[in-house]
Amino acid sequence: MHLATLASGSSGNAILIGEENRNLLVDCGITVKRLLANLSMVNTSPLQIEGIIITHEHMDHIKGVGALARKLNIPVYATQGLWDVMEGILGYLKPEQQIRVQKDICLAGMKIRLIPTSHDSKESYGLKVTGKSLTLGIATDSGMITEEMHRNLQGCDAYVVEANHDLQKLMHGKYPWYLKKRISSNYGHLSNVQLAEALCEWLMENSQKVVLAHLSEENNTPELALSTVLGILRKSQARNRFERVKIRVAPRHYPDELIVLRE
Ligand SMILES: [Zn+2]
Ligand SMILES: [Zn+2]
Repeated sequence: MHLATLASGSSGNAILIGEENRNLLVDCGITVKRLLANLSMVNTSPLQIEGIIITHEHMDHIKGVGALARKLNIPVYATQGLWDVMEGILGYLKPEQQIRVQKDICLAGMKIRLIPTSHDSKESYGLKVTGKSLTLGIATDSGMITEEMHRNLQGCDAYVVEANHDLQKLMHGKYPWYLKKRISSNYGHLSNVQLAEALCEWLMENSQKVVLAHLSEENNTPELALSTVLGILRKSQARNRFERVKIRVAPRHYPDELIVLRE
């Protein structure tokens, strides 16, 4: 199984996931031009993309979805609730490109489970992706760790998870009060500490990689996210269980390296 964030943060999100030469995109919140450029930087042909699965309808996740689906003639997978709010935004798609999905689906040879997150959108989901023998947990855009996230995301081999903000930086920063309230609410985004505390419970001996994603440009820095998460993991009583895990930060505008998970 392999993965790469292609862009990450409020200026646009897209994640490439796949097994062998079958690939899917999770969201496409950047332009087609950028998506194709970033895809080539991880040596993946657009012809190998079998579809786009949508986590939620915010523009930083769907801005390029319609245009990319038309260009590559690939389907878009989303729940009925998300289709209800996206149809006007994505532009024309052939009926066979508009696929309604429910909780568990099989796409590009991988099993995908939608995991409800807590966010101020119509609906929002994280994903648990199960390949032939490895699992990947993806969860961004959640104001809290939901019961479903907790239940489904333990013991994955790799993670792409949100470390959006440092709470002190957010609260003392220049955002207006309503935005501070929104971001820190249960329907906003996960802080570095919230994520780190969840990781202390999720990471197991098999866990190899964690990619910190969707960092705020204003209220976080890659160094701060990394040091906060590492600090909390190192203090955890369970630290022996996950001392081999490697943690990295997803770049905002360009792709991260292609991570290939090994059994
Ligand atoms: Zn987002
Ligand atoms: Zn969002």
